[in-house]
Amino acid sequence: MENHFLKVGKDRYRDYIRFLSNGNELTIINHVKLDHYLYGVVPSEMPSSFPIEALKAQAIAARNYTLRNVNKHIKEGYNLCDTVHCQVYSGLDWEKDSTNKAIDETKGMYIYYNGELIDAVYHSTSGGYTEDSSQVWGNDFPYLKPVEDIYSKDSPNSSWTLQISSSELNKRLVSAGVNVGEVLDMEVLETTSAGRVQKLKVKGTLGEQVLGSSKIRAILGSADLKSTWFSVRKEGSSGENNTAYVLDGNNEKADKINLNNAHIIDGQNKQTASRGIISRVINKNNTETLGGLYNHTGQYYIIEGKGYGHGVGMSQWGAKKMAEEGYSYEEILKHYYSGVDILYNDW
Ligand SMILES: [Zn+2]
Repeated sequence: MENHFLKVGKDRYRDYIRFLSNGNELTIINHVKLDHYLYGVVPSEMPSSFPIEALKAQAIAARNYTLRNVNKHIKEGYNLCDTVHCQVYSGLDWEKDSTNKAIDETKGMYIYYNGELIDAVYHSTSGGYTEDSSQVWGNDFPYLKPVEDIYSKDSPNSSWTLQISSSELNKRLVSAGVNVGEVLDMEVLETTSAGRVQKLKVKGTLGEQVLGSSKIRAILGSADLKSTWFSVRKEGSSGENNTAYVLDGNNEKADKINLNNAHIIDGQNKQTASRGIISRVINKNNTETLGGLYNHTGQYYIIEGKGYGHGVGMSQWGAKKMAEEGYSYEEILKHYYSGVDILYNDW
């Protein structure tokens, strides 16, 4: 193999470089052979220390992705950008021997379904079950169907716990434009057949809102809420703090209610929970309070989840485990992509 490269600043690139001037902006384009491009992509997508058969599976998935998305930036005068928007591409200095070897040894190999290149999406770890693409993005592909994935059951992040305080949750909701007041509870309304959350109801002092799965991950942050396969429960601030004493117009003796279970009904019989409506609520010291009873600072939510990423297609940690157990790249790809063929094509 020739050792020909070019430098842009400190970074070295293979093949050749072209500069595209557009007003004040200069776009630097690396014209690079497909496999030379993959040399700079695969080590950014999967740890180069993973076993060779997992790296080969990743190399072929990335090759498929590249060909299917080759016109993504065609209007801007190039094929693919070098960020996560397309695939992270870092040039020559990030190449690793192991990933280069995986690319060389799978040269010209692609994944097909019924003669068509598949959209070979992948994620970090499924947590035990992969997901149906139609339930995540709405596009139905016969090869992106849920499969049981025992190989992803003991990887990092195959299960995880996120603890988030009520006030932190409020902050993140409000900054995402969702204002239900102070959050009183969260409830899973719908899941996919594989068990991932599709709809989550957030109840607050100002009302409630139903959030879709992509919105939930955007609000909580995809590094915190590692996947949408989770359950949620509320903890903290129990007992006295949540007990209120209520007087009606005819009785001087106060009734005790638990605010965690209280529903406030207004004159139109619509359920609301604004502080104005509970102005008749007094606390146990017989002093009337308007806002203090909704003191949820001690409250927090425990979110217990499985897997990391969208869960569709190949699980990278599952691929690692399969390779360790002696499976080939072909067996790995056929486990995660239903009904596919791995074929050679020199175009
Ligand atoms: Zn891009």
